[in-house]
Amino acid sequence: MTREISEIADREGAFQFHITSLKPLNPNNIADPFERQALMSFAKGGNESISTEEKDGVTYYRYMAPLFVEQPCLACHADQGYRLGEVRGGISVRFNIEQARQALFLNKLLLGLLFTLTLASFLGIVYRLVITLQKRLDIAEEHIKKMATTDELTQLNNRRFLLTRLREEVDRATRYRRSLSCIFFDLDHFKQVNDTYGHEAGDTVLKTISATAQEQCRQTDILARYGGEEFIMLLPETDLEQAKAIAERLRQAIESQTSITHEHQILVTASLGVTCYSPETTTQPALAAFIHQADNAMFGAKKAGRNRVVVAT
Ligand code: GH3
Ligand code: MG
Ligand code: MG
Repeated sequence: MTREISEIADREGAFQFHITSLKPLNPNNIADPFERQALMSFAKGGNESISTEEKDGVTYYRYMAPLFVEQPCLACHADQGYRLGEVRGGISVRFNIEQARQALFLNKLLLGLLFTLTLASFLGIVYRLVITLQKRLDIAEEHIKKMATTDELTQLNNRRFLLTRLREEVDRATRYRRSLSCIFFDLDHFKQVNDTYGHEAGDTVLKTISATAQEQCRQTDILARYGGEEFIMLLPETDLEQAKAIAERLRQAIESQTSITHEHQILVTASLGVTCYSPETTTQPALAAFIHQADNAMFGAKKAGRNRVVVAT
């Protein structure tokens, strides 16, 4: 019966099993080499045997376990000399593991693919994070740099930036023997503006005049807020006559610029001092002295009645 069930199972493509012993009564139950080896190991106390075998290009899994004589066996087999607990044979199972192997291979392949995809996604996310972070850092760095060189109220260059550029421009003018001019200007009676209209209105005027002055700048000119209501315009490649003309245009632009606050329309004027460094005719000035010359000229403009341009002597 065992053999018949085994044959049915085999036909259904499931598995084969086989009851056998070293001394089978039925010659059909004779042990094959694997079973013989397993049975011999059971006789020495082994309790299972496992192997694989290749047949017609197919791999089979083999398993065998011993059959012990138990009490119910003796009812029929006592007279054959069976004794309780004795190993009388074994039952072996054999099944095709090609499908399992293929499934295993497929599983490994899928696992590998999944692992690679997960790793790639993870690395992609990390990469994007790093890039995003780098971009933010770059923006923050740019912002900090700008803040360090920009005047907060007027958004013009600040004094530090101007002094750095002045050093560079004086060096450049000296090396290439080019003219460099400087316009120093200060708003007239600005304290009165604050006193009359309030500090906030004064701020609006400073912003408006800064924008006006910026409009008068050429691409290569450098405009900065030097102090409270004092500004400097640095003019590379510009001789004294050109600088004077630019200063006069700037004066007129400031004079005609209305600053509009919530309640008032405010007009201001400025006094301007001009100086020029020309390597052909003058020696290289100390930076402070160069600004001082322009400042002095501006002071001369104040003394002469304000709202005018004075050239440094
Ligand atoms: P002068 O024509 O001689 O230059 O007279 P002035 O009143 O312009 O000069 P003074 O130096 O007496 O006053 C400058 C004023 O500028 C005083 C100060 O309160 C004002 N000021 C400086 N910085 C700022 C600022 O950021 N905002 C405002 N609203 N006022 C400022
Ligand atoms: Mg002033
Ligand atoms: Mg001043």
